[in-house]
Amino acid sequence: MTAPKMNVAARLPQLRAALDAANCDALLVTNLTNVRYLTGFTGSAALLLVKQDELVLATDGRYAFQSAEQLKEAGVEARIEIGNLAGQKAAISGAAEGITRVGLEATDVTWARQRNFASEWFTAAELVATENVVEVLRRVKDDGELHCMREAARIADDALASVRPLLAQGVTEQDFAIALDFEIRKLGASGNSFETIVAAGPNGAKPHARPSNRKIQEGELVVLDFGAIVDGYCSDMTRTVCAGEPSPELQKMVDVVAASQRAGVAAVKAGASAAAVDKVCRDVIAEAGWGDAFMHSTGHGVGLDIHEAPWVSATSTDTLETGHVVTVEPGVYLEGLGGVRIEDTVVVTDDGCYPLTTTTKELAVAWQQ
Ligand code: ZN
Ligand code: ZN
Repeated sequence: MTAPKMNVAARLPQLRAALDAANCDALLVTNLTNVRYLTGFTGSAALLLVKQDELVLATDGRYAFQSAEQLKEAGVEARIEIGNLAGQKAAISGAAEGITRVGLEATDVTWARQRNFASEWFTAAELVATENVVEVLRRVKDDGELHCMREAARIADDALASVRPLLAQGVTEQDFAIALDFEIRKLGASGNSFETIVAAGPNGAKPHARPSNRKIQEGELVVLDFGAIVDGYCSDMTRTVCAGEPSPELQKMVDVVAASQRAGVAAVKAGASAAAVDKVCRDVIAEAGWGDAFMHSTGHGVGLDIHEAPWVSATSTDTLETGHVVTVEPGVYLEGLGGVRIEDTVVVTDDGCYPLTTTTKELAVAWQQ
């Protein structure tokens, strides 16, 4: 069976159809993740002008061959302009001549850059601040994208399985993180989705602790939060493993977070509000008396970015749709004692969801020292 391909070329008509509602006649895409999403181009510098009847990609000489290759591979037709900044400016502002409203990506363009665009690039046009025009499209994943994300999740699962016994052999958090990251790369990922979190014992009470030189000790819970990247797409998972036998209190934390996480996953389906999923998770933890110890939101979308729309939080206005990929990751963090977080990345379907992560949640490793 051949892997399903991403349909990159299908994204431009969708974007063009959304421009009018965003109050612009053309959109200058400066966010490189969005450039990649729309064209397949992965270079580190580019500007993409999306007009109703033309697409112009401007980049520099380093990417002359790569840009042509990648756009062709993606089936995207564009005028490619290669040059230094002055050349790119001439090409883009020339292509924007006669356009009344040019949209900019407000969350990507700095104040200084906006002023420069207004005074020197698009002097005759009205510049419109837009938000989330491309990001909204990115929420729904096609089969090719899901294939990459499934593969990234599988690599993360397999990497953990192969290095897990180390957790009970007296290694430091840092040593374990290095072993896990190495395995992730060896299994074929291009990198980590983000800096791996390994937080044992009291360090686990900090939700985003960095791996330290402290040795993991018998009876401690270890929070492991990590992911792999395949073809630009991220995976994200958290497991909390006990190195040896947990105390009854730690075991209770694990049980409560596991129940909260299960309830959250059960609430995910097309049409559900993301805020409702957050509430389901939060209620289980509050009932156990630890409401204040769950101090982050329940989850987030995942894709080309590790954190992207939709947002699974108490204040989110997002509604889940088929093809969204979100995490469900409640946690409890008690100062001095430790932390528990359990996270799956799930794909939303019409009547529920299915997980990309398959590692069991009942994880304990027998102490071996
Ligand atoms: Zn995570
Ligand atoms: Zn996450």
